Amino acid sequence: MKLYSITTMILMCATLGACAQAPKIIAHRGAWKNTQAPQNSIASLQKAIEQGVWGSEFDVHLTKDNTLVVCHDQDFYGIDIATATYEELLTKTHPNGEKIPTAEAYLREGLKQKNTRLIFEIKSNKLGVDRTLEATEMCYKLVKKLKAEKEIVFIAFSYPACLKLRELDAKVKIQYLNGDKTPEQLKQDRIYGLDYNAGVLKKNTQYVEQAKKLGIKTNVWTVNTEEDMQYFIQQGVDYITTDQPELLKQILKK
Ligand code: MG
Repeated sequence: MKLYSITTMILMCATLGACAQAPKIIAHRGAWKNTQAPQNSIASLQKAIEQGVWGSEFDVHLTKDNTLVVCHDQDFYGIDIATATYEELLTKTHPNGEKIPTAEAYLREGLKQKNTRLIFEIKSNKLGVDRTLEATEMCYKLVKKLKAEKEIVFIAFSYPACLKLRELDAKVKIQYLNGDKTPEQLKQDRIYGLDYNAGVLKKNTQYVEQAKKLGIKTNVWTVNTEEDMQYFIQQGVDYITTDQPELLKQILKK
């Protein structure tokens, strides 16, 4: 009987991935969708922290006058970030009254606690790869200055940015976003994490298992429906990045 139970359990684990560790939740651009906080605002970060998610993601751009600011789009309410000064950006506000956060202010807020990690996306700069690499170096120096290496995971669409980070630091955590590198290629370049679009991982169903064998972390974005959440839980990804952290939390509790 005992043997039967163990065999059944092993079979269940094999078929359902039931023994795999549950994925960790990353709130995409903070927790904003169900909280009314603007995306990438300090308020959305605070909401994510209040929810106790594993990580909270945010996007960082470089202004013309070398200030790192937190915003997803290339523009902040109509002002083009790459070609504007920080002062110019301060003329606009989020609907909750916040100004555009600097990356430093955002990190300092996040670092008041240790429970929720900060998932730091370095945005590609529209002025070209050289400017993206300058931004990358500045982002890294900022994290270093705040002694925050352990609380941060860097993510980027720019592969040169990922390689630059690895050149700057052998240990810092980096996940590549663009979906066009195999787990083997990432391993070769010592990029020990992939953070791919859900469609890429559904098309390349072997990636998660391959990555696991190679010691590469797997993260998927942006997973917002219950059906997709269940799919990636079964796939055994390490992290799920979502606009709906509340929903994913509920599903993982079941
Ligand atoms: Mg992002």
